[in-house]
Amino acid sequence: MTLKPLLAAAALLLAACASVPMPAQTSADTSAPQWRLAIHGGAGVITRGSMTPEQEAEFRAGLEAALAAGAEVLRNGGSAVDAVQAAVIPMEDNPIFNAGVGAVFTAEGRHELDASIMDGRDRNAGAVAGVTIVKNPILAARAVMDKSEHVMFAGAGADMFAVHQGLEIVPNSYFDTERRRKSLDRVLDEMARTEAADRHGTVGAVAIDIHGNLAAATTTGGMTAKTPGRVGDSPLIGAATYAENGVCAVSATGHGEYFIRVGVAKTICDRVKLAGESVGEAAQVALDEVAALGGDGGVVLIDAQGRPDFVFNSEGMYRGWIDATGSWTAIYGDDEAVE
Ligand code: ASP
Repeated sequence: MTLKPLLAAAALLLAACASVPMPAQTSADTSAPQWRLAIHGGAGVITRGSMTPEQEAEFRAGLEAALAAGAEVLRNGGSAVDAVQAAVIPMEDNPIFNAGVGAVFTAEGRHELDASIMDGRDRNAGAVAGVTIVKNPILAARAVMDKSEHVMFAGAGADMFAVHQGLEIVPNSYFDTERRRKSLDRVLDEMARTEAADRHGTVGAVAIDIHGNLAAATTTGGMTAKTPGRVGDSPLIGAATYAENGVCAVSATGHGEYFIRVGVAKTICDRVKLAGESVGEAAQVALDEVAALGGDGGVVLIDAQGRPDFVFNSEGMYRGWIDATGSWTAIYGDDEAVE
């Protein structure tokens, strides 16, 4: 049995209720027990006409590479937590995304990166905030989860933890890209009037493995021209990242201050758990709260049955899913599902 008609009806219903652009619903066949991975590469003012065909192709290729890396883990029986980590690493290593190399600049022209990861099996979690020399911040977050008794390290202590864990260390200038330097110059010029798309972006992944375990990961450079020391939602468990087996997994992107204030990821999972809402319904409520406070962004979701969903109140969100039956990527708010 296909859920397509149901998903389409739900999309119409939500679109009718919300004043925000609705993303296209996916049409993944959810009848077979299987693994699935869904990712995002940031949300914002991403409109048709604002990107060249070459840029669009670059983003799609970047999403596809991330999906392929995560799928490789899941296809071979690997865990959801290994899969979300594997999926975000190629995006951290790809300068087009605001994570790892290509991270945005702080107002002082440096980079401070945030990342978090959560395993739905036991709700163990790890996070780093404001790391400056760790090539792949998600690996530092994972090391915090696996190798320490803590959940989060910040600043110099987080960098030092990564050094002691033997992670790959790079000079802060490794993260520099010309594109982000130009964004910084523009944002510093127009500080008060900057378009959201120019200021943020983030990458993230959620997954379900063949054993039904859920996991989520989020990693970012934060917001362009952020004040040094500013920490967004991305490294905060419950704000941008949450995973609980039998409930849902969430990774968020958007204007972090609002996602922190709403506690977006935990709000979504709690609504699913306590109110019996679908992940899409719960996410719409949380994002409506974000919008009511003045924020924008989106979430990528997967539920206990492995159904993926994408909800955002920005014009677009780089996003995609993959499973044993196929894959799908999208950029704009009105992108259609691909069978
Ligand atoms: N949420 C990130 C932050 O506020 C940025 C983003 O996702 O666009 O740091």
